[in-house]
Amino acid sequence: MRPYRDLAPSLRMIMTPGPVEVDPRVLRAMSLPILGQFDPEFTEIMNETMGMLQKLFQTGNRWAYPIDGSSRSGIEAVLTGLVEPGDRVLVPIYGRFGHLLAEIAERLGAEVLTMEQEWGTVFEPEAVIRRMRETRPHLVAMVHGETSTGRVQPLSEVGRACRELDALFVVDAVATIGGMEVQTDAWMIDAVIGGTQKCLSVPSGMAPVTYNDRVEAKLHRRKRIERGLRDSTNAPTNEGAFIRSNYLDLSQLQDYWSPKRLNHHTEATSMLYALREGVRLVLEEGLPERFARHRLHGEALSAGLSAMGLELFGDPSCKLPMVACVNIPEGIDGESVRRMLLHDFNIEIASSFGPLQGRIWRIGTMGYSGRKSNVLHTLGALEASLLRHGFGANAGAAVQTALDVYGRDV
Ligand SMILES: *Cc1c(COP(=O)(O)O)cnc(C)c1O
Repeated sequence: MRPYRDLAPSLRMIMTPGPVEVDPRVLRAMSLPILGQFDPEFTEIMNETMGMLQKLFQTGNRWAYPIDGSSRSGIEAVLTGLVEPGDRVLVPIYGRFGHLLAEIAERLGAEVLTMEQEWGTVFEPEAVIRRMRETRPHLVAMVHGETSTGRVQPLSEVGRACRELDALFVVDAVATIGGMEVQTDAWMIDAVIGGTQKCLSVPSGMAPVTYNDRVEAKLHRRKRIERGLRDSTNAPTNEGAFIRSNYLDLSQLQDYWSPKRLNHHTEATSMLYALREGVRLVLEEGLPERFARHRLHGEALSAGLSAMGLELFGDPSCKLPMVACVNIPEGIDGESVRRMLLHDFNIEIASSFGPLQGRIWRIGTMGYSGRKSNVLHTLGALEASLLRHGFGANAGAAVQTALDVYGRDV
């Protein structure tokens, strides 16, 4: 008798802001035979993936490759490479992931300056630029799509100001890459971090990043100082310049991704297959087409939720296309509704964090989960669950309204 059962995960409809359903082509790619990390067949796959990531990030940057780890490993690698103790780092915060940027910068010994915007809104670029002129930060770090509040922050004006004021601009585009425009070069972003388990429909476990020569220059300077200190017998004076990580040291990682192939970690072979297939799917679909698809399903879902009699959370002028946030109606137990969706309908939606915990649900239409059938099933199931919980939903209206958005005639 076998001591443990076979794994048999349920086939869920995952309608959260990540992780989302994985495209079957990606799952298939993950089951292919592994190669050694210096096998020419494998290094060819690495090179090809870098080229595909440049297209995804809309950049001419030389460096675009994945960090092995969840998305925050990419954030941590970029900030570890760019933040020296005592550097002034400005972090405008409008949700949970802004706090993450501030926390990581803090741990690196930065002088962190924050400004906060009420959850559900974003910053006027002018307000950020004004603060930059007052404080002259070395680096500005911002979230593009804040999944905790379902908002998207305009970035191009801040990018231009960073160039003018000689600050590095780092952007967390984990939630938006592959789902809406992220114009690395046009918006003058120096380093961008993407995610796999959101709009790319790849499992969690890698973080594609890209960065330009301004970033590379800083990495090189820190490396030169480190080497100088190592060689010298004199007491070090600027120890702070050391990159304080081995695993997340971008300068070592880029040597590994360069033709030098200097050994670093053992590449996560199957995850790279998955990422390559996920990005291949994006490029096959076409960036504009894929962004339009994310907008369409987001619109159908939001229209359906409103028709049901629910109230959408947050400023509509900066809504993240692929995340709908809904106020949990008065007197309804939000967690009980989520449990019913999961257990009776096999559908997962999310709650939120911090000040929004217990106040909103978040429903994602990202990547492979962004399909018409998913949207229609989710609306129908939520309506049924809400009726069961005593909420007077306008029965039947949600799915019909979503069908109208899809332009479905009989
Ligand atoms: C999901 C998400 C992250 C964190 O990603 P992990 O893969 O959980 O580390 C960071 N930033 C944003 C905006 C996200 O949506």
